[in-house]
Amino acid sequence: MSVVQPLTQTYDVALLDLDGVVYIGPRPVPHAPEALHRARLAGMRLAFVTNNASRPPERVAAHLTEIGVEARPDEVVTSAQAAARLLAEQLPSGSRVLVVGGEGLEVALREQDLVPVSGTDDGPVAVVQGFSPKVDWPMLAEGTYAVASGLPWVATNTDPVVPTDRGRAPGNGTLVNAIRTATGRDPVVAGKPEPPMHREAMLRSQATRPLVVGDRLDTDVEGANAAGADSLLVLTGVTDPIDVVLAPPRLRPTYVGHDLRALELPADALAVHAGEAKVGDWHAVVDGGTLRLTRVTAGSPVAPGDPGAAGIGEARPGEVGPGGHGADAGGGGDGELDALRAACGAVWAAADAAGAGGEGGEGAVDAASVRAALDAARITRAPARPY
Ligand SMILES: [Mg+2]
Repeated sequence: MSVVQPLTQTYDVALLDLDGVVYIGPRPVPHAPEALHRARLAGMRLAFVTNNASRPPERVAAHLTEIGVEARPDEVVTSAQAAARLLAEQLPSGSRVLVVGGEGLEVALREQDLVPVSGTDDGPVAVVQGFSPKVDWPMLAEGTYAVASGLPWVATNTDPVVPTDRGRAPGNGTLVNAIRTATGRDPVVAGKPEPPMHREAMLRSQATRPLVVGDRLDTDVEGANAAGADSLLVLTGVTDPIDVVLAPPRLRPTYVGHDLRALELPADALAVHAGEAKVGDWHAVVDGGTLRLTRVTAGSPVAPGDPGAAGIGEARPGEVGPGGHGADAGGGGDGELDALRAACGAVWAAADAAGAGGEGGEGAVDAASVRAALDAARITRAPARPY
C-alpha cells in the first residue's frame, strides 16, 4: 500500500458508523459534513452502516441530509437489513415473521419478501427482534411465547444502550435479555461486531477494499477485525484514548484519527503498529509494567509535564495541512495523535510479549501509568457526551 496517498484514495468505500462518527443525536459531529463531502469529491464511496434497526434507510438518509451530510437511501445499511437477509436465507419467500421492533424491521423484511406479523396467532415461523422505542410488554410477551415454542430467533444487535438526548436508555441488547431471561434461549445476532452486518454492507456497497470507520472498539473495530478489513477509529464518540492503548489484539484499529478529516490523511500519519513506539517527536517505553511517554525536541528529551511540551493537543488554527484542513485533523505533525500512536505501539508490543494478548495492555501494563502518561501528554479524552 502506498503510504503517501490519503485514505480516500487507498480504499474504495468507507463503511461509516453513524452515532459518534457522523452525528451525535440531532447534531452533526464537527467537521463530518465537510470531510465526507470532500471524500466523495476524491472518489471515495460512502456507506452509512448502523446497528440501530429502528428507522428504515429512507428516514436515516433524510436525517443525514437534514444535518448537512448528503446521503441516499441506497447508501444506508442497517442491522435490520442484515437480520432480514439472514432470515430470508433460511425461510421460503412469503414466510411470516414475528416482529419485536418497529418500522425499520418491517421495511427490511418486506424488502426480502417476508411478511411481518405482530402476534403468535398470525402463524409466524421465526422471530426477529430489533430496537424501536415502541417495543412494549405485550410485544415482548408475544416474542417470548414464540421463542419459547422453539422458533428461530434473530436479533438485529445486542447493544445494551441507545443514546438519547437525555442520556443512555435501554437498547436492543437489554430488550433481548428480557426474552433471553424468560426463555433461556439465545438469539442469532446480525449486527456489529457479528459477520452478517459487515457482509450486508459489503453486498450493498460492492466494496472491494473497504475501510471501516467507527467510534467503538467492541462493535466497529472488532467487526472489522473479524472480517479482515482495515479500520479507522475516530475519537469523536465513546472511545477514550486509554481504551485504545489497553486494547487486546481483536479490538485494535488499523488507524487512529481525531475525526473524519482523517480520511484525507495518508496511512502513515494515522497507522498504529505494535512495536512502533517512536512516532514523530514522541517516544514511548514500557519499563517494568509502567508506560513512559517522552517528547524529544531538537535532540533533547522533554518530559511531557515540562513547559517545553506546552501546546500539545492545543488548537493551532493558523496551521493548515496538505489536505487544506487544520493540522489537528489527525496526523502530519499532530503531536497529540503521535503521542497516542507511540503509546499504543509500546503497550501493544509489551502486552503481546507478555502473552497477555487476550486481555491486552491491561494485563501487562499498569493502567494508572497509562492514564498518567496520556494526561501528561495532554491527549484529549473523548469529548463529554450526554451518555
Ligand atoms: Mg458509534
